Amino acid sequence: NPRVSSMSKFFSSRLKQTEPYVPGEQPNETKVIKLNTNENPYPPSPEVQKAIQRAANETLRLYPTPTLQELRQTIAKTYKVHQDQVFIGNGSDEVLAFSFMAFFEPGEAIRFPDITYSFYPVYAKLFNVDYKVVPVREDFSLPIEEFYHAEGGVIFPNPNAPTGRALSLLEVESIVHQNPEKVVIIDEAYIDFGSDTAVQLVNQYENLLVIQTLSKSRSLAGLRVGYAIGDKQLIEGLNRIKNSFNSYTIDRLAIAGAKAAFEDGDYFEEIRAKIIETREQTAKSLDNLGFEVVESKANFLLVSHSQVDAEELYNQLKEQKIYIRYFKKPRIQHYVRITIGKPEEMERLLEAIKKHIPKVT
Ligand code: PMP
Repeated sequence: NPRVSSMSKFFSSRLKQTEPYVPGEQPNETKVIKLNTNENPYPPSPEVQKAIQRAANETLRLYPTPTLQELRQTIAKTYKVHQDQVFIGNGSDEVLAFSFMAFFEPGEAIRFPDITYSFYPVYAKLFNVDYKVVPVREDFSLPIEEFYHAEGGVIFPNPNAPTGRALSLLEVESIVHQNPEKVVIIDEAYIDFGSDTAVQLVNQYENLLVIQTLSKSRSLAGLRVGYAIGDKQLIEGLNRIKNSFNSYTIDRLAIAGAKAAFEDGDYFEEIRAKIIETREQTAKSLDNLGFEVVESKANFLLVSHSQVDAEELYNQLKEQKIYIRYFKKPRIQHYVRITIGKPEEMERLLEAIKKHIPKVT
């Protein structure tokens, strides 16, 4: 059990006070329906594999280019920004960790929602950053005014995780606008599934940092590539952290694969449209079964049912080798989170759920 951890007398007090993040299960069997960690059910673009193969054959002897210039150019072109406005890290988790180190301080509380990505409090504790959680409303929407004038800065995912609820671009902009002296980080891990990216605001706001990932909409969770887009000075801050820590955040295979993924825009559009369509269909089916389905703009749904114990549903499905996510946490302990898979996987899930729901007469 990863939660029962030993504590060495040699650990720093920061480490002692940090309860590490526990990621979702990665079962070793292949014959499971895996709807628990928001991966993409479709393989990456076929171009990715070819590019990685080429890089493996030709360049592994050499260190990567420390500036990651080529991939930064590709990302800059994709988002119509300058390459000096792009930072690349080993998954967006690393970009988030570097951002906490670069922009947030002890003594000035940053704000994030109470129901959100559980890595934020982990980083805050590890890097000694004070924080204040802002409770989301009953319907899981964010009370945006409560993020105005934050002492130390703001971070939140848009769409939020694990709720899937998204803010409009105007709402995001108002939070950025109302914190002119502090960095506002928008974690857009799930932005490509139907909401508007704040990247289009980075040239207007020097305090805005947008973080995205190739793990979800580009099917590359295994490659570990994330990136930040923002004002040149914020990117310079992240580079200073990187260069004080590890000059090579990503390797040559990841660089080649990521570049190929961005260059195959048609494939990206095709699979994200499929996922959005499957999400809408699954939401409808679950609603018909009596579930409360939180409105989602992500590749997952947070759902609950008045006559079904969420943890029991999670366990029952796991016995049938269908993995979903259950969080034993206040406010969401009656919900489960279901990643959107292929239509046939969602059908199998719905069949299994139907058998589990008590017959209402
Ligand atoms: N932010 C959010 C909100 C997430 O849910 C995740 C995925 N667990 C990440 C960031 C990290 O993604 P990655 O490190 O794979 O880029």
